[in-house]
Amino acid sequence: MIKSMMLGSLLLLVSQAPAQLTAVKNTYFEAEMVFREAEMNLQPGLYGYYKIEASGNEYVEGHLESPGQSDTALLNITIEKKAVETYAVNLNMDYRGKKYLSGIVFSGDSCAYMDYGDTVAVKQSVKAHALIYFYSPYNLVKTIQKNIRTLHLVDAKDENFKILGFNDEYGNKFYTRYDRTKKEFTALWMPAYDPVLGDYFETLAYEDYRCDNGFCFPVRITHQKATGIYRTIAVTNIQFDRNDKEKPARKEMVEIEMDTISNHLFLIKLLNFNNKMMVSKHRNYLSVYDAPINIAVCRQVISFLHEKFPDHPVKYCYLSHHHPDHAGGAGAFMETGCRIVTTPGNIAYFNRIFQATHTMEGRPVNTTKAAGPLFDEVAVNKNRRFDGDDYPVVACETGASTGHTKEYLLFYFPEDKVLFAADLVLFYKNGIYNQGERALSVYKFIEGEKLPVERIFTGWPLHHFNDYGTVEDIKACLKAKYPGL
Ligand SMILES: [Zn+2]
Repeated sequence: MIKSMMLGSLLLLVSQAPAQLTAVKNTYFEAEMVFREAEMNLQPGLYGYYKIEASGNEYVEGHLESPGQSDTALLNITIEKKAVETYAVNLNMDYRGKKYLSGIVFSGDSCAYMDYGDTVAVKQSVKAHALIYFYSPYNLVKTIQKNIRTLHLVDAKDENFKILGFNDEYGNKFYTRYDRTKKEFTALWMPAYDPVLGDYFETLAYEDYRCDNGFCFPVRITHQKATGIYRTIAVTNIQFDRNDKEKPARKEMVEIEMDTISNHLFLIKLLNFNNKMMVSKHRNYLSVYDAPINIAVCRQVISFLHEKFPDHPVKYCYLSHHHPDHAGGAGAFMETGCRIVTTPGNIAYFNRIFQATHTMEGRPVNTTKAAGPLFDEVAVNKNRRFDGDDYPVVACETGASTGHTKEYLLFYFPEDKVLFAADLVLFYKNGIYNQGERALSVYKFIEGEKLPVERIFTGWPLHHFNDYGTVEDIKACLKAKYPGL
């Protein structure tokens, strides 16, 4: 009896787990996607210096007549970002005609704090002053960047307003509300404790952002504590300086070179990835042959091609086979609405690649992701000709004979008598490099189809090997293994 009950509850656990994991995944990855959107709008590295001047009120608790009653003090406030890691808030208070000064300087992971009435600043933990640090929403972005793996989505239901949760490096917990329509953080909450009033949420509200040259700052900030509104800030003046040194320099990851094969045909060399791909130029578009490595590499290839051929967007992406060094970057072409030319056995795999998000990589969200994916299939063991306006290409399925992948496409360019064999054959620079089944399949295909081929281009490797060889070169590489050829 006991045994069967236990089994029953175990089964229940197992069946609930996938749905619960999906919920976890959604709250995690969606949070990061929302944050990357925010980060694109509020770039904390873009401005090296800013100074915000504001007036405001502080509500002073005292031994007054009724509970909850407070007195209003007048404030003059400056919020200043000085150097890379230094941020200061200074408060000049006028309370019943007397002047008081308070200031806090955050530098790296510590802060120097001077309370009203004190004359010297003391070094304190940032932990106790977290919300003052977040008077600048730029610091909010920075803190999330530093603690990105603590980020999660609290409420995913509302399309336009998202509640994100995160921790800082000092053990504080925060929740922030992001308005996706306005691309603004509108509120920040932090669980806090008051020895008299108990548990509460300390909060900041950001309202009425003003933007100038990409520098955005809320004009009204309201800071609340356990007793209610604690401080209001009304911005009167904003100064900022662009700082080129701090600009996030996106390092180009691929060194790209392009060789011209003919008026219509080009060879793209990915130097630091030891990899190649081909490009054909048609009346008003380009086609690429293979999409090596990954989405980031191929996004860069697309930018490179856009620079070289601004009037010729990439419209077709032909993939020889599914291996990552030849198709790992297919997602970059799919997201621009390219048609993918492949074989039936790869469709499900490329569909999955199209659905994939890349938030963990920290890449900006592609907000213009095309509908799709769009496929043109080449049937197994068949050739399919694409007219390509003025420059035709024939995709030939030869998988079964390659000994490499079940399905495989060779690409033939009849006008240039060029064949792109991608991964099946090698042409070593210093002599004969003996080869087997893969190279044999290319040789047999050319012979069998009586294809006029002058040059056979390869996709890999780039270094120590020639870009292309001839049918005679393949034959020479096969001699050792197939002496009867
Ligand atoms: Zn391969």
